[in-house]
Amino acid sequence: MNSVAAVKKELDKIGVAYVENALMSAHTTFRIGGPAMLYIRPENQDKLVGAARIIQGAGLPMVTIGKGSNLLVSDAGYQGAILSTEGLTDVSISENIVTCACGASVTGAAVIARDRGLSGMEFLYGIPGSAAGAVYMNAGAYGGEIADILTSSTYYDMETGAVAALTAADHGFEYRNSIYRSNSKRIILSAVFELKPGQHAEIRSAMEDYMYRRKTKQPLEYPSAGSVFKRYPGRYTGQMIEECGLKGRSVGGAQVSEKHAGFIVNRGGATAADVLGLIEIIKEAVAHKFGVEIECEMIYLA
Ligand SMILES: Cc1cc2nc3c(=O)[nH]c(=O)nc-3n(C[C@H](O)[C@H](O)[C@H](O)COP(=O)(O)OP(=O)(O)OC[C@H]3O[C@@H](n4cnc5c(N)ncnc54)[C@H](O)[C@@H]3O)c2cc1C
Repeated sequence: MNSVAAVKKELDKIGVAYVENALMSAHTTFRIGGPAMLYIRPENQDKLVGAARIIQGAGLPMVTIGKGSNLLVSDAGYQGAILSTEGLTDVSISENIVTCACGASVTGAAVIARDRGLSGMEFLYGIPGSAAGAVYMNAGAYGGEIADILTSSTYYDMETGAVAALTAADHGFEYRNSIYRSNSKRIILSAVFELKPGQHAEIRSAMEDYMYRRKTKQPLEYPSAGSVFKRYPGRYTGQMIEECGLKGRSVGGAQVSEKHAGFIVNRGGATAADVLGLIEIIKEAVAHKFGVEIECEMIYLA
């Protein structure tokens, strides 16, 4: 029996749903990506950990994903198992502490917090990611970032086979980076945030302002993975790209957004190869004009 067949048999035994040859274009906000051998969708933490143990035991490559909003998946797809957290969406609140399961929407959590009169998550409103994806990336916007509010996270450690926790200080947060990015053996299970009591009207107004800014400045009408590049210290990357005259530049179906040059959008039928080709053009142009090397924020999965 090959490893995929063995994994399927064991997943059936523990009652975890999966799809074979699942097109990743259906599971990424870019709407790009070929088939994953197995797309696995556990519905709770025990099943997620159980599924991870099975995949690991079978020696199949594995990647855990959230909402696929920071991912570019290869046109050839992924030769292994994608473990999705989309079934783990619980958000619970006790006083000013918000606990999110790994797959919970951060925008949804910000709304729940707002409705309980808790301030601190406003900046997350409009970010289309999961709690774990946001912790992994140290997601941020409008002057806030995950590092400001996270108090701890739990994870499944594939090296030890145990569930463990990290305190805020253990996360090694940097700009769009956390310790999880350098350790692919850890699957984030949950995240705990500490917020402050606030005025509902003020929280709502900040969130509406951020959403207004997103809608007016970002190309939300097209599929994308958000800002493709990290901010270059002291510079707006989107502005540098615009100054290179690249707004609207296309490769196949991928285009430098006409609205915000920091975004690459899928204008229809874009492939990962198109996006990668466009990224090379942008990097070369920025290096030539400004003498700096810009780095991708978005993660490429092949
Ligand atoms: C329109 C748009 C606007 C955006 N605006 C912002 C913004 O303002 N600020 C910002 O920071 N980002 C922004 N993003 C990018 C993106 O939404 C964030 O990076 C988000 O935090 C990614 O979460 P996700 O669940 O989609 O992660 P995914 O894209 O699914 O995964 C991202 C990475 O996290 C890893 N990962 C996910 N879940 C787990 C887990 N449980 N355990 C271990 N690793 C895991 C994946 O393997 C992958 O490497 C935007 C994206 C879009 C499309």
